[in-house]
Parts: sequence; C-alpha cells; structure tokens
Amino acid sequence: MNGVLNTGLEFWQIIVGLTAIVLSVIAIKFTFSIDVNKLLERRDKNNSQKLQNACPHFQLVGLEGKEFEVRSLFYKPAGTFMHKCRQCGVITALDEEQHERDANHYVKNPQALIDEQAKLTKLAKKTGRVAK
Ligand SMILES: [Zn+2]
Repeated sequence: MNGVLNTGLEFWQIIVGLTAIVLSVIAIKFTFSIDVNKLLERRDKNNSQKLQNACPHFQLVGLEGKEFEVRSLFYKPAGTFMHKCRQCGVITALDEEQHERDANHYVKNPQALIDEQAKLTKLAKKTGRVAK
C-alpha cells in the first residue's frame, strides 16, 4: 500500500478533496450571508411599506381653544413633480382631489386621524422605528 493513512487514496487526491471541501464551505458561507442581507433588506422594505400603508399622510395641529387644523404632510421635493410624505417617506404622484377628500374626512372625524397616528406610532415602535 502506498496510500496515506491506509485510506487507499493517493496524497494528491486527499489534497484535492480537502480543497474542494474548503471551497464549498466558503461558497456556502458566502451564499448564506448574501441571503441574510437580502432577507433583512426585504424585511426592511416590507416594514416601510406597512408604515406607508398605515400612514394617514395628515397631521392634526391644535390651534387656540378647541380649534384644530388638518395639515397635509406631503411636500414637493425640489426638481420633481412627485409628492413626498414628511412622516412615512412615501413618494407618490398625488391625486390632489382624493387628498382633499381625505382632508375633509379628517376635518369631520379628527378622532380617526388621532387613532391612525397612534396606530402608526405603535407599528413604528414594533418594527424598530420611531415615526418622525
Ligand atoms: Zn405618510
């Protein structure tokens, strides 16, 4: 027998075998870390979407006495026709008529806006974010 450790394998076969094992371990680790990053990215995206869906895109501003004002959180960043929400960061081509209807809805039901903001804050905390 001229094999190493009586395995019946030639020395070079063992080297090739070990190299193959090491390479496959590296490959597995590499793929794994890529998948984890993708997963985190996807989860982050899902959370953002959840927050954006929960966001009323309006803010209730208390004025003097019992008066209040429903203020839109959308603004137009420079150099774009899209609107961006200050709170959830969603970027959208705003349907202004629909937005005005929503505003009127909240003017009539300020409690609905308070509830939605509370829900959003809860969700933001749950996903590890705090609503700005
Ligand atoms: Zn929003």
